[in-house]
This record gives sequence, structure tokens and C-alpha cells, in this order.
Amino acid sequence: MQLPEKHSATGTTIFTVMSALANKHNAINLSQGFPDFHIDSRLSGALGAATENGFNQYAPMTGLPELRNAIGAGIKDRYDVDVNPDTEITVTPGATYAIYTAFTAILSPGDEAIVLEPAYDSYIPNIEMNGATAVRISLSAPSFSVDWQQVKDAITTRTKAIIVNTPHNPTGAIWTKDDWTQLAEIVRDTDIIILSDEVYEQLVFDGAQHHSVLQNEELRARSFVLFSFGKVYNNTGWKMGYCIAPPALTQAFRRIHQFLCFTVNTPAQYALAQHLGNKTEPLNDIMQGKRDYFLKLLAETPFTIHAPARGSYFQVASYERISDLPDKEFAEWLTIEHGVATIPVSAFYSSGKDDRLIRFCFAKKEETLAAAVERLKGIR
Ligand code: PMP
Ligand code: GLN
Repeated sequence: MQLPEKHSATGTTIFTVMSALANKHNAINLSQGFPDFHIDSRLSGALGAATENGFNQYAPMTGLPELRNAIGAGIKDRYDVDVNPDTEITVTPGATYAIYTAFTAILSPGDEAIVLEPAYDSYIPNIEMNGATAVRISLSAPSFSVDWQQVKDAITTRTKAIIVNTPHNPTGAIWTKDDWTQLAEIVRDTDIIILSDEVYEQLVFDGAQHHSVLQNEELRARSFVLFSFGKVYNNTGWKMGYCIAPPALTQAFRRIHQFLCFTVNTPAQYALAQHLGNKTEPLNDIMQGKRDYFLKLLAETPFTIHAPARGSYFQVASYERISDLPDKEFAEWLTIEHGVATIPVSAFYSSGKDDRLIRFCFAKKEETLAAAVERLKGIR
């Protein structure tokens, strides 16, 4: 049987591979990005109550009005911008789905979409699954900031979209307001659409602020903004998120969404709608505490940190003082021989570009981080 390839990525995603390897070798899993601590009991309680109270049938295609209203209120609160819950917000089964749906809504065969690498590994396959071409630009270590001239030079008459991500997975870099201004200047006289992946919006450290594309009026008018509840409420397995876009883009998004999954888990939507109104401890502070704790411990190991993560769940580290193995081999060796699983950063480059860096996820209990570092200290 001949089946079409659909995209150029080979094998299984690195997150699946490394988590499976961690399980097989009983390693501490600092690879795939997910918290290992409990979620807020008010949220789990609300989920149980929703299903107990009979909210078990299809929700509206666009998302429960209660949840979309709560999302709109949260955006107003965090970014001081007004978003219309009826015409601009769609609830989705996670951000990965929303990214695919947004690309599918706008890309046609022959189009180009610009991707800044290292990049979350679904972007390029999603572009290619729509018959379009991914145009790659490399961000440079250690700051991983954007060279705007390179972006400008990559634009052609076929450029349909640019996908961006701040706070950034895997590097923990964050964009300044000026980055958005530069992007706005570059796309001003074009029809280019922006996909802004802001799943780590509430994970920004050292008093810095997350700058959302929603705060740039000019760009907002041409942007899909993708969010994930998993990264805000520590429940990545719920696979819940949302897409914010101006009405015309939202309509295009929903045209696809209604025939892709139609609607999203109802009890989870009720639970989130209720929980969004609860007061919670700022996630930035909690996660910054974990980053600081991890970095302090890591200083006792032979790993080198070139730049502390400014946001996200992740810290990139160099193993230049330990080994000159390619990063995938090093990550396998570390898992099997030292019992700590990480992600090789080359997995975020479609070319496999290897800067000999690995990514640790520090969204873990302190005891998990301490146990992992205890193992890393034994490396010679
Ligand atoms: N974008 C980035 C940059 C991510 O790291 C993740 C992590 N999973 C996602 C999107 C997807 O989020 P979700 O789990 O809601 O699909
Ligand atoms: N975003 C998470 C990470 O980068 C995992 C997502 C996934 O497993 N696809 O680790």
C-alpha cells in the first residue's frame, strides 16, 4: 500500500521518545514539559462536580459562553485589551490543535510560512500537511533573539504566515515590545498573517512582563493568538486551550474547527469557566522559584548555563565540559547511564542542527529536581 508522507518529519516526536525512554530506564523525567505536582483542588473538584451535575453532552461549537466570557475577562485583566468572546474567542482541545487549525484555515498549496528555529516540533509538519513550504530562520545561541533583517529577507510574494513563540520553547527567551514593533514594520504592507504561540504567557521571570501580540493593535488585526490552559493550571493532560483572532480570522478558524473536532470536552469547560474566577497564586512566582532552585543545584554539576531562562518551563544547558557526543546520543546516555531524561535541542531544528545543548523541564516538585541533580552530580 502506498500512503502519502504528508510532512517531512521522520519518526515519533522527541517528547514521546524521551518520556518512553525515561519510563523504560526508571529515569527522572525532566524531558517532556509537564508538571509533576497536583493541580488546584478547586479545579479538580469543579471537574467532578460538572460531570456529576450532568454537564456531559456537547457544548456549543465555539465553546461554552461562560468560559469564553471568563477568558475575555482574563485577557482584559492581564493585557488591558478588549476581546469579543462571541466573535474572537474559540475554545480548543489544546494549543497544538489550535496551531494546526489556524494554519489549515489560511494555507494553500504553494504558500510559504516562516518559522524561527529552534521551534516547537509541530509547526513545520503542520505547514507541510497543508501543502505549504516552511521557510526556516535560525535564532542564535545564547540569546536566541530574532535577527529582524533575516526575517525581512525571507519574505517573498508567497509568504502567507509567520509563526512566533514567546516565552519561547525550548530556550526560555522572551520578546520585548520592540520585537513586536519590528515585526509590525516588516509585515505592514503585506497580507501576511501572524500565528502567535503564547502558551507560556504566565511564566515570565525576574519581574519581566509578557508582551502579547494582542497589545500591538496593528498586529492584532492580522493575528491568531494561541493559548493553553495546560500551562496555566498545571493540567497539560486535559488538553484544553483557546484561540483569539479578529472576527474574519475567527470565522475562517471555525470553518475548519467545526469539521475537525466540532466541540471540546464539556465538563472541562465548565470546570475551567468556574476556576478562572478563583484567586490563585501568581504562576510566575511559583515557577521562578523552581527555576532558581534548579539553577542553584545545577551549579554543583558539570553542566554550563549560558543564559538563565527568562520564561517558560525550560532551561537549556550545555554539556561541553562532559562530552562531545551529538545531543541526541548524549540525552540517551544521560537517561540510561545517569537516570535523568532531557530533550536534545536539535529536535527543535528540522535540519537537526546540533549546538550540543539539552533542555531540562524544571516544572517539577523540588524533591524531583533535587533527586535529579543528585544523579547529575555523579557525572564525570
Ligand atoms: N506551543 C508550545 C511552544 C508548547 O511548548 C506547547 C506544549 N505542549 C504547545 C504549544 C501545546 O500546548 P497544548 O498541550 O495545549 O497542545
Ligand atoms: N510542549 C511540551 C514540551 O515541549 C510537550 C508537548 C508534547 O509532548 N507534544 O515538552
